[in-house]
Amino acid sequence: MNILDTGIKNVRNVSRYTIGEGSLKGLSSQLQEYRKTRGDKGVIYFIDEFFKGNKSILEQLKVSAIDEIIFVSTENEPTTDYIDCFVEKLRNNNLIDPLAIVGMGGGTTMDIAKAVSNLLTNGGKAAEYQGWDLVKVKGVFKIAVPTLSGTGAEATRTCVMTNKLNGLKLGMNSDYTVYDQIIMDPTLTSTVPRSQYFFTGMDAFIHCIEALNGSYRNAIGDSFSTQSINLCRDVFTSEDMMSANNRLKLMVASYLGGCAIGTTYVGVIHPFSAGLSVVLGTRHCLANCIVMFAMEEFYPDEYSEFRAMVEKQEIFIPEGICANLTDSQYEQLYKATIIHEKPLTNALGNNFKSILSKEKVIEIFKKM
Ligand code: ZN
Repeated sequence: MNILDTGIKNVRNVSRYTIGEGSLKGLSSQLQEYRKTRGDKGVIYFIDEFFKGNKSILEQLKVSAIDEIIFVSTENEPTTDYIDCFVEKLRNNNLIDPLAIVGMGGGTTMDIAKAVSNLLTNGGKAAEYQGWDLVKVKGVFKIAVPTLSGTGAEATRTCVMTNKLNGLKLGMNSDYTVYDQIIMDPTLTSTVPRSQYFFTGMDAFIHCIEALNGSYRNAIGDSFSTQSINLCRDVFTSEDMMSANNRLKLMVASYLGGCAIGTTYVGVIHPFSAGLSVVLGTRHCLANCIVMFAMEEFYPDEYSEFRAMVEKQEIFIPEGICANLTDSQYEQLYKATIIHEKPLTNALGNNFKSILSKEKVIEIFKKM
């Protein structure tokens, strides 16, 4: 295959991380340390509402009166309006200059915290920053505490959000969006439902197989991808995919997968998956898995491997969700898929539209 320049230069990674069981307990003392130099300011916590009643986790944060906890609904993926509401609330309460913002949850919660951090210092509305390098100044110091593994949101330079006005699903792609610190504590993923653990974890696997099968490549992206895939394989072919050691491995796979995708591109799977999300509202990680079952033609080896892991872990993947849609829905699915030119070029070359004709795209969706 012809290897092309990714065009991505001078890559930024997360500055600091802690890892291991119990590392969440260290967060409050680290924040205390930062207060010594940055003043006695409050911390804003964005926490997945899943943890709302979870005393044993919340107590570890040692939240004080000057701090603010905001529980985030993760029922839907973030919209620009939803993010603007949080920012407005913080501005109204005069909380624009906190010590830090902590995003504790899955991809949705971590992405919301990134966006709010940028908006507090840059001003304006979320939609103004959807695109590449539009964020002008550094955001509020931010820390991610992932409680789901796979999306890689803890490592990437974007935060996915949908603008309901124009249907645009695009993040704030910026070096300023990268977290300053992450805390990888695998005890936090022990209560994730099995199927969700599988779907989310597979996002890392899928990012990396797409990257490795593409033309835009570089040596470091390939290394991140290869190791992330190895870890996913270990986890999803083992007897207990949620053992303590496997949860730690998947947390690392997610981080490395995020680093990989920060220097490369996805391929055919994510554009189709985005189609399902935009038109049918299917959640990102589940949508990827549904698409995988229709990808034998493009990724034959990975398709077989994926199927074997689904069977091994006895995970139910819905089928037939696109079998009987209206013509207008198929049309929308086609448009929402083919719009992703960069990943499709990465996977299929400049002539991707001759491979993915409208008939072909619809035929593939009908297999899902
Ligand atoms: Zn993804």
